[in-house]
Order: sequence, then C-alpha cells, then structure tokens
Amino acid sequence: MKKILVTGGSGFLGSHLCENLVSQGHDVLCLDNLYTSDKRNVEHLLECRNFEFVRHDITLPYYGEFDEIFNLACPASPVHYQRDPVQTTKTSIHGAINVLGIAKRTGAKVFQASTSEVYGDPEVHPQQESYWGNVNPIGIRSCYDEGKRCAETLFFDYHRQHQTRIKVARIFNTYGPRMHPNDGRVVSNFIIQALKGEDITIYGDGSQTRSFCYVDDLISGFLKLMATDDGVIGPINLGNPTEFTIKELAKSIIDLTNSTSRLISLPLPSDDPKQRQPNISLAREKLNWSPEVKLTEGLIKTIDYFDTLLKSKS
Ligand code: NAD
Ligand code: UDP
Repeated sequence: MKKILVTGGSGFLGSHLCENLVSQGHDVLCLDNLYTSDKRNVEHLLECRNFEFVRHDITLPYYGEFDEIFNLACPASPVHYQRDPVQTTKTSIHGAINVLGIAKRTGAKVFQASTSEVYGDPEVHPQQESYWGNVNPIGIRSCYDEGKRCAETLFFDYHRQHQTRIKVARIFNTYGPRMHPNDGRVVSNFIIQALKGEDITIYGDGSQTRSFCYVDDLISGFLKLMATDDGVIGPINLGNPTEFTIKELAKSIIDLTNSTSRLISLPLPSDDPKQRQPNISLAREKLNWSPEVKLTEGLIKTIDYFDTLLKSKS
C-alpha cells in the first residue's frame, strides 16, 4: 500500500479521489486550507485509520515522505478564483513549487490537476494537447489560466532539470455530487435553480459549448494516468468529448427535474470561451481510458445529491 498526499483533498474532485484511494487501502494524507470547501466532504473518511486531514495552505512548504502526490489545491470555478486573484496565482505557482520540492526530495510521483483553461478561448476545435492555446494574459480569468500554465511549465522544468516523475492531466468541465452549491458553475447553478423553480440564468445566448464529464469517470482517468510508467508524463486531456450548448444543458436539467423554471438571458462574462471539447485520443491510446457515464445518467445522480442537500437545509 502506498503513502499518498492529496492537496485540495476536501474539495469536489479531491474528496472523490481520497475516497477512492482510502477504499483501496492506501495511506492518504489530505492537505487543504478549506478555502473553497469544508470538511463535510471528507467527514465520512475521518474515522478511517488510513485517512488523515491536515489544514494547511499549499503556498507554504510542507514536509513529508510520500510515494505519490496528487496536486489539486486551487479554487476552480470563476466565482471562486476571481475572489482573490492574487492568491489564486500564488496557489498554482507556489503550490506547484512546494509539491515538486517534495517530489524531488523523496522521488515521489507527482500529478498536476491542470485544466482545459490552458487553451483559453480556443481557435482549434476540439482541443488536442499539442495546441498552445489562446489565453488573455491580463483578463479576469488570467489568474487561473496563466497560474495553471505556469504550473505546467514548472512541472516540465522539474522533470527536465531534476528528473522529477511527473503526470500532468488537463481536466475539462467535470460535474457530480459534492460540487460546491455556490461556486457559480453552470451545472450546479442550473440544477439548484431548476429544483427551486427559479429562473435559469443563461449567460449570453446559450450557444457557447462545453463537454461535461462525470466525476467517477474523471477519477478513474486520474488513477490510470498515475499508474503509467515514467515514460508517460502528459499533458493528457481528461474529459468527456460529447459537446453540448449551454441552452441544451439547461433544457435537459429542466426535463429531468420536471421544473417550471424559465430560461432568462444575462450578460456573458468577459473572456468566456465560446466552445470547448476535448480531443481524448491520447488518453484512449496511453491510458486505455474514455468516459462511460452519459450526461443524463450523471445529471440524475447530481440532481439527487442537490435535492437531498436542499431538503436538509429547509
Ligand atoms: P474545489 O474548489 O472544490 O477544490 C479545490 C480545493 O483546494 C478546495 O478544497 C480548496 O479549499 C483547496 N484549496 C484552495 N486553495 C488552497 C491552498 N492555497 N492551499 C490548500 N488548499 C487549497 O475545486 P475542484 O473542482 O475539486 O478542483 C480541483 C482541482 O481540479 C483544481 O486544481 C482545479 O483547477 C482542477 N480542475 C477542476 C475542474 C472541474 O471541472 N471541477 C476542471 C479543470 C481543472
Ligand atoms: N454559465 C451560464 N449560466 C450560469 C453559469 C454559467 O450560462 O449560471 C455559462 C458560462 O458563461 C460558461 C458555461 O456556462 O459559458 C460554463 O461555465 P462554468 O463557470 O461552469 O465553467 P467554465 O466557464 O470555467 O467552463
């Protein structure tokens, strides 16, 4: 069994990853400063002997011995990462330097949760890993996009300079239970609005596209990438290639919840990418991975989660 560090482990993706690793019997240390999550996401793991939670800010060094490190710490939704953009950039960059430092010292494999945002508002569609992206360096999304791009640079320089064992995944929009209800992401916003019978807030005309991956599929991709030999370092796109417009997503959620909500149009935020769809040929080839959960199936589970959450609060 391995000793595994998960930074950002009490967040949406991190909590699912910790749960999976703990159930396999690994010794898991979850580091999180609870900036965008609370401990409730990992509460059910606290009684497990092979799980430990430590409140720590990853912009500060941490010392420990690990076989593997998953670096997920970073606010991920526009609402959260724009709240304190300087801290967002620091988290990506100082966080990367700190986890890479541990990996360099201990020989651990280190996984970086990078993002489709490194492609910015893409001029190539669908996006493949060889595309360098179209990112505004001074816009309101830049703290996240450029922070993640620089983290990738650090990962590859540590690999070239110090032979650090790296794995870089570029994650596309992912959804599922334990998404933060107030982080403004489209799936959680629309489900909550539909369940409450409130207006569904379409930004722009709703013709922009995204491709939504269910969380279980994504975590299986993380584990497959981490298990590859040292020759596979990425970056590798992980996401669901089935693309939907935001209006189509809204209509599916209204149907699945039998909601009476109406669609309303609000201004499109600046730098909002017009289309996004992963090319996952590399993940298919190197990891034998592709997503299995259909949007409707995943939405039903996510709707169930938010329905229970809303009922527990009322
Ligand atoms: P999340 O906000 O739920 O989780 C992020 C976690 O990191 C939170 O628990 C937060 O408290 C913690 N954190 C933030 N700053 C920290 C710091 N300085 N020190 C320690 N902990 C800190 O977001 P998520 O959706 O679970 O995303 C996890 C990772 O995956 C992020 O790095 C994100 O950029 C990446 N990602 C997610 C998606 C997605 O669709 N969910 C897409 C692309 C990339
Ligand atoms: N969006 C929307 N209504 C909302 C929240 C988001 O129309 O209430 C749109 C948003 O403008 C973007 C897409 O949905 O085009 C996905 O937004 P999200 O914040 O989930 O992720 P990202 O933009 O980072 O892909």
